Amino acid sequence: MLIVKKFGGTSVANKERIFNVARRCIEDYKKGNDVVIVLSAMGKYTDELITMAKDINDKPPKREMDMLFTIGEQMSVALMSMAMDSLGVPAVSLNAFQVAMHTTSAHGSARLKKIDAARIRRELDNRRIVVVTGFQGIDKYNDYTTLGRGGSDTTAVALAAALHADACEIYTDVDGVYTADPRKVPNARKLKEITYDEMLDLATLGAGVLHNRSVEMAKKYGVPLVVRSSLNNSEGTVVKEEVTVERMLISGVALDTDAVRIAVIGLKDSPGVAFKLFDTLAKKNINVDMILQSIGRAGTKDISFTVDKNDLDDAMGVLEANQARIVYSELHAEKNIAKLSIVGAGMMSNPGVAAKMFESLYNEGVNINMIATSEIRVTVLINEKDGVRAMNAVHDAFNLAD
Ligand code: ADP
Ligand code: ASP
Ligand code: MG
Repeated sequence: MLIVKKFGGTSVANKERIFNVARRCIEDYKKGNDVVIVLSAMGKYTDELITMAKDINDKPPKREMDMLFTIGEQMSVALMSMAMDSLGVPAVSLNAFQVAMHTTSAHGSARLKKIDAARIRRELDNRRIVVVTGFQGIDKYNDYTTLGRGGSDTTAVALAAALHADACEIYTDVDGVYTADPRKVPNARKLKEITYDEMLDLATLGAGVLHNRSVEMAKKYGVPLVVRSSLNNSEGTVVKEEVTVERMLISGVALDTDAVRIAVIGLKDSPGVAFKLFDTLAKKNINVDMILQSIGRAGTKDISFTVDKNDLDDAMGVLEANQARIVYSELHAEKNIAKLSIVGAGMMSNPGVAAKMFESLYNEGVNINMIATSEIRVTVLINEKDGVRAMNAVHDAFNLAD
């Protein structure tokens, strides 16, 4: 079997954990399997790098941030290979350049385009464990890129797809995918299985346990994922096309506190205005999520929408620069907001799911600012201070607890 195993920051945070991971991987290797490991930077090292960068320059160039980020993952893979060597097992560490992991040039949110599997195959044929840096890539100028925070999951899935791996295991600091973040909702329950579509929505809407692009890619290439703990042997959660266990109405609740709301006030109430506004943002590569347009009055209207907080400066900048072309009177940004979502394929055939969510928020006295829905999710925009309380209330309302 060829197995791709990914370990996140907490799983390699210190010497003891590194050896714990090394031993787990060696076990698979000694059974005769080919083993490829993807690692994140140790502990909170990526955050520390950001702090260091911002101490020098509060708006560091994105290219240079990526150059800086790559050392975190590089440190992990080198130390891991040394640990394996000390345990008498041949291992080789490779970074994105050495593998040749090609991405787009969007620094900080690059997309994987093509992975060259030849070098890894050669190392596996020589019976080495291959230890690859997560999160990073190279673009057509041979510059380093990164895939976005949490992107090592995507590296692992992409490698599993490129190598036609038999298994892709994501090891982390919780036992699997829960009905909600167990750190925020103490009575959240571990799921045995979840579909790609539900997991993709949960990951996109704030459940940081998996990078959303990793789920997108797993679905595209049919890579079954297992999410489990690196610290114990409990079973974990399988992410796949269809689940076999009894379907629940809602699979999970997610909270995203990384969104900000931008309100564009006093737009002309005429055709083409929304196009101009969102096209301006799209050309800057800014992803827009929830959109709300007010009913027009006196020939004007307002449009509000949410973007990721990392895109706030860029979004405000480009809108201000284009005020004369878009034509609006004011621009406001609201940072203290949170997006609360429920996700579940079960809601397709069950009316009243959204109403039940709204009822539980009403009972908690939580005000809703915006609403967005799709076939399998309902998202509301609320005040950030209500976030965790509202999340617990909604989780309870759907009886998701143990
Ligand atoms: P790693 O460093 O291993 O990639 P992450 O911190 O990225 O770990 O992801 C694991 C964390 O995701 C958990 O510690 C947990 O707090 C959080 N999380 C958020 N939503 C969920 C969920 N639905 N199920 C499990 N964990 C979740
Ligand atoms: N080290 C990177 C981060 O902290 C990538 C990852 O952990 O997946 O975001
Ligand atoms: Mg992660």
